[in-house]
Amino acid sequence: MCLPRHTSFARLINDHPKGDQRVTIQQTSLEPGLYVVATPIGSSRDITLRALDVLASADVLVAEDTRTLRKLLELHGIHLGQRRLWSYHDHSGGADRTRIVKAIQDGQSVAYTSDAGTPMIADPGYQLVQDVLAHDLAVTSAPGPSAAINALVLGGMPTDQFHFAGFLPPQDAARRTALTGLKGIAATAVVYETPKRLSAMLTAIAAVYGADHPIAVCREMTKRFETVTRGTAQAVLDQIPEMTLKGEIVLLIGPMTQNDSSEDAIDDALRNALLTLRVKDAANAVAGAMGLPKRDVYQRALALAQKDDST
Ligand code: SAM
Repeated sequence: MCLPRHTSFARLINDHPKGDQRVTIQQTSLEPGLYVVATPIGSSRDITLRALDVLASADVLVAEDTRTLRKLLELHGIHLGQRRLWSYHDHSGGADRTRIVKAIQDGQSVAYTSDAGTPMIADPGYQLVQDVLAHDLAVTSAPGPSAAINALVLGGMPTDQFHFAGFLPPQDAARRTALTGLKGIAATAVVYETPKRLSAMLTAIAAVYGADHPIAVCREMTKRFETVTRGTAQAVLDQIPEMTLKGEIVLLIGPMTQNDSSEDAIDDALRNALLTLRVKDAANAVAGAMGLPKRDVYQRALALAQKDDST
């Protein structure tokens, strides 16, 4: 099947409909517990009615950035009133979690939002959920947008199996080792990337997967300048000078096909891993990633390392 190389359907995104479109938000009494609430990744109306109800009703609101949540509340006509608004971010520590756990133990409902999308997806919240669960307290969610899922919907890549990799390491050698691991997973890889590093990332994908490997760059989804660029790693790399390298990006890397699991693919993966790892570690990483017997891969790694030494 042939997919369009580049699409921009931003005209379909109607973030500011005319007239009073405000929905009725239900303020209710919530059971004590932690409510993990997803918020928009762009278009401000991409938020569920239940998420709005929870934000209007929780006794305590906790946000990765309190200013971002204040803006969202204002936009949807939700009053903070006398309710508490706390911050919880990547640098928050045990004391911040204890304060939240204590509030729930005292019978309060606590809603948590990250800056955009679903908390805990390349965002804070995991440790908080762990602590709340460890105290045998209730955790629930008001699900909604996530850039990873939205990219899978727009990218035109297989969605039956996907692997969320988040942000890969920014250093070139570590990035290539991470890509080598992803290559061994029979699934579309979902990677978060910054515009500044896109070019280096595409160069690394072309080296590790091959220049002809299919990828999709999903930029500014649900926003005014939403674009999706599909093609081979090399073709998209060649377009970079013409692309607007601003905004937020999710990169999809298509899964390797059966034929790619050939001896050449194993050797390519090993060569990349050997750039940063010792023979045994490289063999273990590739064997694990590609689901191959460690002993066989070790023999190949040894042979490659010896060949390189003698040249
Ligand atoms: N928790 C969020 C989620 O559920 O997707 C992700 C938070 S992470 C800190 C931010 C990254 O998500 C961005 O750097 C970008 O890679 C991706 N992202 C978020 N919103 C996006 C959008 N509207 N379009 C493209 N990528 C987006």
